[in-house]
Amino acid sequence: MTTYTPMMQQYMLVKQDYKDAFLFYRLGDFYELFFDDAINASQLLEITLTARAGNTDNPIPMCGVPHHSAQGYIETLVAKGYKVAICEQTEDPKHAKGVVKREVVQVITPGTITEGKALDGKSNHFIAAAESIGETEIAFAYLDVSTGESNCSIIEGSAKQLIQQVQSYAIKEVIVTEQLQLLLAEYAEAGGIVLSLETEEMEGVRAAQYVNHLPANLQGVAKRLLQYVERTQMRSLSHIQPFNYTEANNFLRIDTNSKRNLELIQSIRSGDSKGTLLWLLDETVTAMGGRKLKQWLHQPLANKKAIESRQSIVTELLEDFFLRDELTGLLKNVYDLERLAGRVAFGSVGGRDLAQLRESLRQVPKIQEKLINSGHEKCSILGQKLDVCDDVEQLLAEAITDHPPISIKEGDVIRDGYNKQLDEYRDASRNGKDWIAQLEQKEREITGIKNLKIGYNRVFGYYIEITKSHLNNTDLSRFERKQTLANAERFITEELKEKEALILNAEEQSLALEYNLFVALRDRLKVFIPRVQALAAEISELDVLMSFAAVTDKYRFTKPEFHEGRGLRIIEGRHPVVEKMLNKQSYVPNDCILTDDKNMMLITGPNMSGKSTYMRQVALIVVLAQIGCYVPADEAILPITDQIFTRIGAADDLVAGQSTFMVEMLESQHAITHATKNSLLLFDEIGRGTSTYDGMSLAQAMMEYIHEEIGANTLFSTHYHELTDLENELVRLQNVHVSATEQDGRVVFLHKVKKGAADKSYGVHVAELAEMPEAILQRARILLEQFEATHTAEKPSKSDLKHTPAVVEQPPEKQTDEELQLSLFSISEEPAIAPEQQEVLDALTKLNVMGTTPMQAMTLLYELQQKLLGNK
Ligand code: ADP
Repeated sequence: MTTYTPMMQQYMLVKQDYKDAFLFYRLGDFYELFFDDAINASQLLEITLTARAGNTDNPIPMCGVPHHSAQGYIETLVAKGYKVAICEQTEDPKHAKGVVKREVVQVITPGTITEGKALDGKSNHFIAAAESIGETEIAFAYLDVSTGESNCSIIEGSAKQLIQQVQSYAIKEVIVTEQLQLLLAEYAEAGGIVLSLETEEMEGVRAAQYVNHLPANLQGVAKRLLQYVERTQMRSLSHIQPFNYTEANNFLRIDTNSKRNLELIQSIRSGDSKGTLLWLLDETVTAMGGRKLKQWLHQPLANKKAIESRQSIVTELLEDFFLRDELTGLLKNVYDLERLAGRVAFGSVGGRDLAQLRESLRQVPKIQEKLINSGHEKCSILGQKLDVCDDVEQLLAEAITDHPPISIKEGDVIRDGYNKQLDEYRDASRNGKDWIAQLEQKEREITGIKNLKIGYNRVFGYYIEITKSHLNNTDLSRFERKQTLANAERFITEELKEKEALILNAEEQSLALEYNLFVALRDRLKVFIPRVQALAAEISELDVLMSFAAVTDKYRFTKPEFHEGRGLRIIEGRHPVVEKMLNKQSYVPNDCILTDDKNMMLITGPNMSGKSTYMRQVALIVVLAQIGCYVPADEAILPITDQIFTRIGAADDLVAGQSTFMVEMLESQHAITHATKNSLLLFDEIGRGTSTYDGMSLAQAMMEYIHEEIGANTLFSTHYHELTDLENELVRLQNVHVSATEQDGRVVFLHKVKKGAADKSYGVHVAELAEMPEAILQRARILLEQFEATHTAEKPSKSDLKHTPAVVEQPPEKQTDEELQLSLFSISEEPAIAPEQQEVLDALTKLNVMGTTPMQAMTLLYELQQKLLGNK
């Protein structure tokens, strides 16, 4: 049997509790990893794998990282989706009997990491928890350990909706129950999301302050999340705020798919923010403001008063460029108050952090003064509401030096005058240093050596240095040799030795006391955390509203008005992101007018003409208006929209094995089952992924259903011209088209939306623009002509269109467009039947098959064949 040293036994005991993490086991100045941890980490971190023999014949695989540079290695592992358990020595080795006591002091996981590159200033770093509450609902809670912000909500739907939500907040780790773990495993792996099990909930009494106000079915998931965070972080969570929960109907709900389709926060192609609405809007100057803006885009408001309250501040800021300019200058000096507060709670705050906190707090009275004296009503109220936290600033001003170093163990953090004892130690050490300067002077005079100097280093302490050239003509009897250098000797004297002890002692005591004072100050600051967080919330909102004003000014936005009805009137609206991308080329503005009587639009027009852009632009204007911003239009009178649903573009869900068409149908189904008459629906090219008749039937059936059963404001784009006839049947439907024209046989897109249906598709023209080979283009033109000629003849009558879904004649088998075109082609090549063929047909029709003998039949068949071959 293998026997291990006592230390390895201790290691294995600890490791048992942290099987799912890399155990960083502190040994002196290193963190060591053993066994499989070592083998895996050496590969992941590209460090050397060695072995430790121990008391056994089988060497133990081992690798290690120096503790002072461990942070980078930990970040690397966590970024790759692993967890790291930090096991420290928890007693002074000098006092240890036997093996030094060691304990895990923190488990760093992808969702809980609060330091380093994983944290982007302008994004929250959330960790989430989820559990099923009923067949179609999932309780969802998420919090940011670095800022203390926490939220929860109910997700309607299944694992897929949950994963989408998780991805839209860029969450890396989700705490789950065993049941959900099974359901989510595949999705999570594909999405690079770590699932962590937590079987317990934080007990009621301690969790109460965070969760008591929540609906009963959300409390469990929130408590499970708190339990996990506490279990892994093993330290104060005093900065975690009570979970935010707002009834869903206070927000404009936009499902994750639609957020992606509209590119609110992440772009479809790259997944980052370039080319999104966030990218356009983000002129915030603080990290907190950046995060707040993201949050607002995730949850636009659906309460007119709340929207108008934001809007009114934007209006005042917009009117006062100088105020904005001055406030921007001040906000630039405000650091990340939320994360600083988080680090205070966590006990990881350093001297420099506290100097940043102080610097930030110093801006607040100035910001307040500017707001109050701005002469603007709302800004002034905002200013009065600010808690400037001057007591915190004062405490920091008294305690912390002007430029403290990052480390809190090397002194220079606590200011003179803050603590009497510290001042005395410092005096002793400073006086000692003066004394040394005097001694240097004195020794120079005695020896007559001008370049004699007294120095200090950590190993040898204080020394008197004499260069070699002076050694021979100096009386060295008082000097004791300490160190020999290439061109000098270092000495010490009795007198210097004595003083050295005093100075070093004072210095050591001073550093120890300074550290203790700092820790005490940090604890004292904890009570102020909620106030600093409240201030951070106010400052970040101001920052976002300033950003709205800046963007409004820059891109000539207009103030939208809201009314109680459902109609929507946008005059000369623009898609702000496409407009910005087009740079100097001019964007063509378009109106969109939906009234109670006509609130559905069927948009036709060639590919690339701008149908999709037009639809998105309407949705973006609604979103912008409901986050409290101005909008890109000359005029906008809007209803309060409760939900936006989009069916735009093709996003295959390969993980779930769903085809583009299936995704399209699922998204449409989701929209149709959840939309209300106050929603906005955007359907782009519905029914494209199946055969023509199939797709057209579905599209028409859906439009009829929305018209009859839902009544939502709806924009529908299609390339099925047949559908434009529906305008006559559905009273609230209007046809519009995005115009294009032909110049010298080439299509020119005008991007202008006009009344009525489009006259043609210009598909071949677009292919021409794409430089398709001329042979294909010519052939396509011929086929198109033939197809259109026949198609017009076959077109279903308007009365047929009335009835779903039998409206459109179904061909016997599902036919693809190509098949249809081919069969049409063969018919039209030989349109008429020759007379002899007709004779054959007639003879066959008249024939009494039952009254014909086989011999007669053979003869007849021969004659008919000859006739067809022209032999008779
Ligand atoms: P469709 O949906 O009709 O195929 P898109 O909406 O995708 O067309 O638009 C195609 C391109 O046309 C856009 O990428 C944009 O560059 C340009 N475009 C669209 N609308 C406008 C407009 N109103 N003004 C100027 N350019 C536009």
